Parts: sequence; C-alpha cells; structure tokens
Amino acid sequence: MKLKQYQKKRDFKVTKEPKGQTQKKISNTVPKFHFVVQKHQAHRLHYDFRLEIDKVLKSWAVPKGPSLDPDTKRLAVHVEDHPLEYAKFEGIIPPGQYGAGVVMVWDQGTFECAIDPKKAFKKGDLTINLKGKKLKGTWKLIKINLKGKKDDDSWLLFKLNDKYAKKEYDVLKKKTRSVNTKRSLKQIAIDGIKSYKQSTKS
Ligand code: MN
Repeated sequence: MKLKQYQKKRDFKVTKEPKGQTQKKISNTVPKFHFVVQKHQAHRLHYDFRLEIDKVLKSWAVPKGPSLDPDTKRLAVHVEDHPLEYAKFEGIIPPGQYGAGVVMVWDQGTFECAIDPKKAFKKGDLTINLKGKKLKGTWKLIKINLKGKKDDDSWLLFKLNDKYAKKEYDVLKKKTRSVNTKRSLKQIAIDGIKSYKQSTKS
C-alpha cells in the first residue's frame, strides 16, 4: 500500500492529520490534479510541494521554498506519498509526532501536465502548469543525481520563463498567509493549541 510509510510515521490518535483511508469520498471533494504547497514550521521552516498523481499526493520538501525567478533553482527532496485529503490539512501537529509543528495551506489549485504525470514522475522530469493563487504558469521538477549518494532522492524545483516569472520579487516574503483562511503561522498555532485543549477536555 502506497501510504504505508506515511501512516507508519504517525499516531492518528494523537495528530489530527488525515489517516488517508477514505479514497472513495475524497475523489468527490478534491478536484483532479490538485496541487498544494504547505508552509510547515517544523524543526526547520520549509515548504511542502504536493501534486496529485496516481490517487496520492506526490510530495517534496522544499527547504527554501519556491521562487518565481527562473534563475533560482530550489532543492526539493522527494518524501513519502501523502493522502489526497492532506491537501486540506492546516493546523498543528502535536509535539512528539512526526513533523511536529504548524502547517499552513500556503497555496493550492490545479495543475496540468502535457503528458501523463505518472509517466513524467517516473522519468524524473515533470513539466507542469500551475493554476494556484500564488504560483501560476509553467514549472519544472527534475530529479538530480547527487554523486556518491545512493539513496538520495533530490530534485530541483524551478519556474520556467513566462508571464508569471518574476525576478527580484520574493513571493515567500510578500505572501505569508494561508490561501484558505488568511491566517498567519502564529494564528494557526494559537487556534490549533486551543482546539487541542478543548478536544482533550473530558
Ligand atoms: Mn513538511
């Protein structure tokens, strides 16, 4: 099962992240070829870039986040598949849990791929057209082979030159809030702590 690694890392009695077992329900609510970028304040702040491919969210952790400047290529470390409903997850991951910290839905929308994204993913060469609120236009994700690293699954994420490319504009600094709730990371943290306190009251 594809989500085994995802589920193994998490205790769903403790975290409110989705377990990912309700695939039939999801396809009605999540549009096809959905993408999401989650801003994740864990041990280190990073951005999780996720694409709906083959009924899961293929996922990359991008330490420095996406850049609209085509000359800036960002390292994207391929990580375990996440369930489709994870695209809606915004809140806190409790201490002691995998990825403990705060998660924001920073951007989301749909994407198009001229070829079957499943094949492109396998080839390690994805060209996608994003239709998000913050990220738009053509982007590339390319698998790179770092010499001497056997289990390395590093990719590069970068913008291609089009009308949505922007130099000298830091989208991460200009757009800091949730695309869904307009909350800052701090507000999500405060709300999350409150709701956990309520849910543990008996
Ligand atoms: Mn993460």
